[in-house]
Amino acid sequence: MESSHDYINDQMLADHGLRKTAFRKELLSVFLSHTGKAITNEMIEEALGDHDRITLYRTLKSFEDRGIIHIAMDGNAHARYALCGQSCGADHHHDAHAHFHCDQCGNTTCLEDMPERFEKYVPQGYQVNEIQVTFSGVCTQCA
Ligand SMILES: [Zn+2]
Ligand SMILES: [Zn+2]
Ligand SMILES: [Zn+2]
Repeated sequence: MESSHDYINDQMLADHGLRKTAFRKELLSVFLSHTGKAITNEMIEEALGDHDRITLYRTLKSFEDRGIIHIAMDGNAHARYALCGQSCGADHHHDAHAHFHCDQCGNTTCLEDMPERFEKYVPQGYQVNEIQVTFSGVCTQCA
């Protein structure tokens, strides 16, 4: 699938130190067409069509390691994946934002505009490795 995402796609892989392969480009296209949303493994597999599961698993892992995608918990505490903001890179993520899960349509959305840094509520001396905050309820489209 050649698309308008093609240029961004190549650039993003290069920016994150990943060689472009047909599969990485295809997977990245899936994320680029769901910007701002966290998607499930099933949604990814469906969008990809024919693929090797091990390759998918490894590629998701390398995208996460390189700061291309981050994990978001949905309302049922299942891990989803969402495209990172520009400031993420290898070994440093800046996605300490909350996610909103709609109980009706099942969409999980990145709440990137949240001004609060959740880390500030953690007492001194604790080291934070990961932050997962999920609000669940009904989104504007379903309300
Ligand atoms: Zn990130
Ligand atoms: Zn909804
Ligand atoms: Zn997010």
